[in-house]
Amino acid sequence: MSAPENVSDSLERQAPGKPRAWWRKLRRSQERLSLLVPLFAVLLLVAIIAGSYLLLRMEERAREQELVLQESQFLALRLSEQLLTKQDDLQRLVHGMVAPVSGAGFDQAARALLARDGSLYAITWFDARQRVVSTHHTSMLPSALRREAGALWQEGALSDMPQGHWVLTPSNDARSQSASPSVLRLFTPIQVNGQYLGTVLAEYAPHMLLHNVLRGDNLASLAVALVDAQGTHIAGVGAVNGVAGMRWDAQAFPPTQLSLPISPLGDALQLKTTLYRTDRNVTRHALLVLLGLLGTTTTAMLLLNWRLSRRRLQTQRRLREESSFRLAIENSLTTGIRVLDLDGVTTYTNAAFARMVGWSQQEMIGMKAPFPYWPEKDREVLAERFQAELNGRHYPGGLQLRMRRKNGTAFDARVFMTPLRDEHGVQTGWLTTINDITEPNRIRQQLAAAHDRFTLVLESLDASITVAPLGSKELVFANRLYRQWFGAQSDGHLQMLAQAGASRIQESDDNTDEEDALMGLPAEVVTTANTDRAEIYVESLGKWLELRSRYLDWVDGRLAQMLIATDITKRKQAEEQAARQIEKMESVSRLMTMGEMASSVAHELNQPLAAISNYVNGMISRIKADTIERDQLLIPLEKTAHQAVRAGQVIHRIRSFIKRSEFNRELCAPQRLVTEALELANIEIRKRSVRLSLQLQPNLPRLHVDAILIEQVLINLLKNAAEAIDGADLPTARRGIELQVQRDGEDVCFRIIDQGPGMPETVTSQLFDAFFSTKKDGMGIGLNLCRSIIESHQGKLQVRNLYNGPNAIGCEFAFWLPAATKSPSAPAEPPMPILG
Ligand code: ADP
Repeated sequence: MSAPENVSDSLERQAPGKPRAWWRKLRRSQERLSLLVPLFAVLLLVAIIAGSYLLLRMEERAREQELVLQESQFLALRLSEQLLTKQDDLQRLVHGMVAPVSGAGFDQAARALLARDGSLYAITWFDARQRVVSTHHTSMLPSALRREAGALWQEGALSDMPQGHWVLTPSNDARSQSASPSVLRLFTPIQVNGQYLGTVLAEYAPHMLLHNVLRGDNLASLAVALVDAQGTHIAGVGAVNGVAGMRWDAQAFPPTQLSLPISPLGDALQLKTTLYRTDRNVTRHALLVLLGLLGTTTTAMLLLNWRLSRRRLQTQRRLREESSFRLAIENSLTTGIRVLDLDGVTTYTNAAFARMVGWSQQEMIGMKAPFPYWPEKDREVLAERFQAELNGRHYPGGLQLRMRRKNGTAFDARVFMTPLRDEHGVQTGWLTTINDITEPNRIRQQLAAAHDRFTLVLESLDASITVAPLGSKELVFANRLYRQWFGAQSDGHLQMLAQAGASRIQESDDNTDEEDALMGLPAEVVTTANTDRAEIYVESLGKWLELRSRYLDWVDGRLAQMLIATDITKRKQAEEQAARQIEKMESVSRLMTMGEMASSVAHELNQPLAAISNYVNGMISRIKADTIERDQLLIPLEKTAHQAVRAGQVIHRIRSFIKRSEFNRELCAPQRLVTEALELANIEIRKRSVRLSLQLQPNLPRLHVDAILIEQVLINLLKNAAEAIDGADLPTARRGIELQVQRDGEDVCFRIIDQGPGMPETVTSQLFDAFFSTKKDGMGIGLNLCRSIIESHQGKLQVRNLYNGPNAIGCEFAFWLPAATKSPSAPAEPPMPILG
């Protein structure tokens, strides 16, 4: 399928340098030249013929003019001669009359003249008074011109007329009754010795004059006429009358005309000669017409031919472009193409197939089964299949086979064979497409292996993994653990979602009041949303599960939800146990605190009890001695009651501190927490001779806390501070503790600042470790508990030494608790996140 070779192309390739450029330029204008040159030649031929024809015409015309001139001059001369002869005749007649002037002489002479001159109409003698003396005329004289003897000449003075005076009178209107024909008059005066005696008038018929002149001449194409000065026709002979059929010619070819004056009349009488063409020149015209037709036809043919060749060139160019385009596409294909004839012989292969197998395109032409690119061992099977295909068997998915390259290496190929039909639908051979699928096969195998590995990992995971499309109850994926727990159905998946509160998406049809937070969002937003976590207890399994869900675009394009459930029963149990232990520890810690404070409390209670005892004993002795009035009893009794209340309060505070039963959050004012804590802490502080100063900012926000636990923290920190001061045996000036409660942004901050010895670096790093204590009988769980209590209230606890230069001058414990307005419903225990 090589591009059609163009002869001019190959020529062009050979032509080097300048000639090459010239040839290319010529080629470009060739097309135009091929039209213009013949067209120009034809037009030139037509022009030459037309020119020759015109030249001939002009020559002919010149000849005609010459002829007319000669003829006219000859006729005019003859006509003049005639007129002069007539003048002489008249002159002689008059002379004859004069010798003996007599009428008889005149009459005789006149008659003789009339008889001799056929052109003479009449001859009349006027006397000096212009009266007709005698007149003679021929029968041809029109009646209008006849005169009676004695009639007067009324048309002018005859006496003034010179010798031989000619007058031409054209005919008046021929249609009127008094019509008179054209007449030529010759006046000859009669004079004797200078005396005027009259005039002889001779009247001639002009046409007869002309007739006489032309007598015997061939006037086949000539028309001769007499005209007056104004060109009025007087008389005519020849073609003008006789050759009426020449009118057509006269129009097509104008006649050659010439007018000559006739002496002695001069311009008053002119001879007009007209030459008509009598030869129609049919042959010449026909030839001319034929030539014209030939020229026109040739031009038309040339134009037609040019148009056709232009189209052919365009088609060729398009064909060449199309062919190179197809060739380019074919060469860029990665699919091999092979064409076989009906006998299975290779007639064509494309470049891709040649690259694929290693044999060149030319080498493969003519190859037939068994093809060399079939591996040796498969030849029989392949030949069988090939024959089956040639016999019309069709393999819809094509054939996958192994092929051999020329260099001996092998590759996998998929081969499709389809019948090749011509434009009439008749099968002319087979078209085979061959795709090298070694790489796709390798990728497929790798993918399969990767899939196997992936499935193995998912199957062996100790978490249940399921994927279900949204709005559908089918499971598109479930791993081994899920199948063990719930079977192959989606019930377990849905149940877990429902328990986690995330089944809204699935149930949205039934429960339209609830809305999914992700509803209506584009899939990519949903799928990139963070993974949600929840912990649920599944009764049917008796397990605690941690659920994580994620939206994803499933392979089939649907939006799906993936659920990963991990068994956290053991962790949950451990957590519960730890929580219980912490609770126990809190309670133990409180008991211990009370135990430690037992002597102080006893001392504290001792005072009111001693006072009560004193008051009561005093009253008893005074009653016994009867030294007291009834009214005087009131004051000691009231004091006694007051001391009893005080003792009761201490006991009540101790009881409620120790007897905290369950985690119980309530809204508390910080003042209340401080007051209640100080009721117990003060006992210890006072016992250790430490001052406490309290700075409580007014209008503090309320806190949402378990009051007993926060009081426990306060008591613990105050007790530690008092112990640190007491333990260091500091002087009175430094035996002070300051409790500051103030607002800090959204939080309320409690600061316990003591003036004790502070703590060494080694202590700070392990301060919050359980069972770390520097005291002889210390348990070391106080601070550890304090921090977990504060943190479970979303607060924080910090500690730092206070320095004066390099010396520590005290220690500051501070904790922050969020104000209730910030998160009034914040849960005390670890929150339970809700899925969806
Ligand atoms: P205990 O009081 O039973 O020792 P704590 O956890 O309450 O346990 O305290 C741990 C240690 O922190 C104490 O032993 C003490 O060394 C140190 N400590 C606590 N409070 C202070 C303080 N205000 N000044 C100096 N050291 C302190």
